[in-house]
Amino acid sequence: MHELGVMMKVLDVALKVAEEHQAKAVTEIDIDLGIMTGVIPLHAQKMFELIAKDTAAAGAVVKFHPIPARFVCRDCGARMTKYKPDVEFFCDSCGSGNLFLEDGAGFHMTNIGLIQSA
Ligand SMILES: [Zn+2]
Repeated sequence: MHELGVMMKVLDVALKVAEEHQAKAVTEIDIDLGIMTGVIPLHAQKMFELIAKDTAAAGAVVKFHPIPARFVCRDCGARMTKYKPDVEFFCDSCGSGNLFLEDGAGFHMTNIGLIQSA
């Protein structure tokens, strides 16, 4: 996943929400970030700062909440949770690399903090 494209979407949504609520500014954006998305929070935050300049979301704090990867082994049925991204994962029980990713590839905005106009 490319940070710029992703953060442009985030900015779009945040500005739309701000407009809908007739808010003066966006102060905070919370995002549940699956560790398997490949999005690097620090890069994404910097990217956001750049593109949000001169918008109502300038200076907004973007907080990423990492969502671990959950796998089910296709060979033995074991379930496991991995908290760090890696190139390859193997089953904790049988060592198989034949894993199905259940969760951890998502990117969801969970909260947008706004300042209301006076
Ligand atoms: Zn297994």
